[in-house]
Amino acid sequence: MISYFKEMFSGLNSLFTGMRITGKVFFKKPITVHYPFERMEVTPNFRGHTDMVIEKGFHKCITCMMCERICPSNCIRVIAEKPEGAKKKELVAYHLDFTKCSLCANCVEVCPTSALYFSHEYTLVGTSRHDFHFNLLERAKKRAAETGIVWGPPEPEPKTESEKPKKEAAAAPAEA
Ligand code: SF4
Ligand code: SF4
Repeated sequence: MISYFKEMFSGLNSLFTGMRITGKVFFKKPITVHYPFERMEVTPNFRGHTDMVIEKGFHKCITCMMCERICPSNCIRVIAEKPEGAKKKELVAYHLDFTKCSLCANCVEVCPTSALYFSHEYTLVGTSRHDFHFNLLERAKKRAAETGIVWGPPEPEPKTESEKPKKEAAAAPAEA
């Protein structure tokens, strides 16, 4: 008989404990979001895969290859070509194998033109590792198109007034 009442009180105690906890959190703001209809705000320092910065409608890469050389995971391939008649090489593809990336930030920090940043993409899914091989140049072009940015290299900066006379003076024939 005693054990019967003991078990009954123990059961009621569990029930009321559970109801107390449920009641406590019922009116609190939920800490989860209704994914995929809602997205979480990520902190500014969140590191998703690297992406290319778009500035003035174009990327900022000067194809120096420093990111490729410094990457400890060997997951970057910068492809650059020199078009006929051009003085400098131009970026034609920026391959990132995100399956190998350790998010160490070496590439972002070493870039002399700040051409890379960490995206806030946290919902990447794929059915094959190849789904995580990105061409960041193509992604940047797509992003630009989606946001109505016209993709193309910016016009060269006009020469400053202080530079002009020096060059003109240097180019002028010396007077006898
Ligand atoms: S370090 Fe920067 S500028 Fe150099 S290749 Fe990498 S992204 Fe381009
Ligand atoms: S974050 Fe680190 S591991 Fe990832 S691509 Fe950049 S250098 Fe390589």
